[in-house]
Amino acid sequence: MEATRNLRPLVAGNWKMNGLRAQLAEALRVCDALSGPGAEGVADVMICPPVTLLQQLADAARGSKLLVGAQDCHQAAAGAYTGDIAAEMLADAGAVAVIVGHSERRAAHGELDRSVRLKVEAARRAGLAAIVCIGETAGERAAGLTVEVVRRQLQGSLPDGAQGANTAVAYEPVWAIGTGRMPSAADVAQVHRAIRDALVARFGAEGAAIRILYGGSVNPGNARELLRIDNVNGVLVGGASLKASDLLAIVAAYEH
Ligand code: PEP
Repeated sequence: MEATRNLRPLVAGNWKMNGLRAQLAEALRVCDALSGPGAEGVADVMICPPVTLLQQLADAARGSKLLVGAQDCHQAAAGAYTGDIAAEMLADAGAVAVIVGHSERRAAHGELDRSVRLKVEAARRAGLAAIVCIGETAGERAAGLTVEVVRRQLQGSLPDGAQGANTAVAYEPVWAIGTGRMPSAADVAQVHRAIRDALVARFGAEGAAIRILYGGSVNPGNARELLRIDNVNGVLVGGASLKASDLLAIVAAYEH
């Protein structure tokens, strides 16, 4: 199958549980830089702040090229779920996308593929794109199970009807998140290839239109090499997305 470098890349920043209101200044710097002359841009750029900052950032970014996303949602549209947030609420606050199934939620909140799938369905119901995270642990990689694990998570986490417009997949090796460690380019290529093949086998032409992001210790120094890899259609960035200059340097890697 032909490589998918033609998909418009997505650079998405996951702020996790970081950021008081003062941190919005960094997002606004990104917003301004994307609005400058000649900033038509070759990539979509998104920031997923904590939910407390979501509406304020979405309001500030309205009309700009900066997209605003959320980090999780509940599967139900409303109800007695203290502390949870519905996808409809995120859309109402101005989000256009939501990350689901991040390994930190899978590990710390016991999220399984089935509940991730229900959240993807909730996102779709609310008109949000879902960024669905999958990835192996260090132990699974050491046991040679990476592709098997990723295929299983993909199959279980994606509902039928996934399309390029409503779904992105983020391959995030758990051991590479926040550690400064990364798989080799060949390993990234192998896993992204396996994900692409599984997407096309299940969703046909739409499977070829779904962006596959790499995530795990992406920074301005390694972004360019990643972007050269077939079927890497963008990146999901944690720590380096907190500083506008770093996030913009990653975006700039797409421009050369
Ligand atoms: C993440 O948590 O999605 C992530 C990729 O984090 P980091 O870039 O900090 O490794």
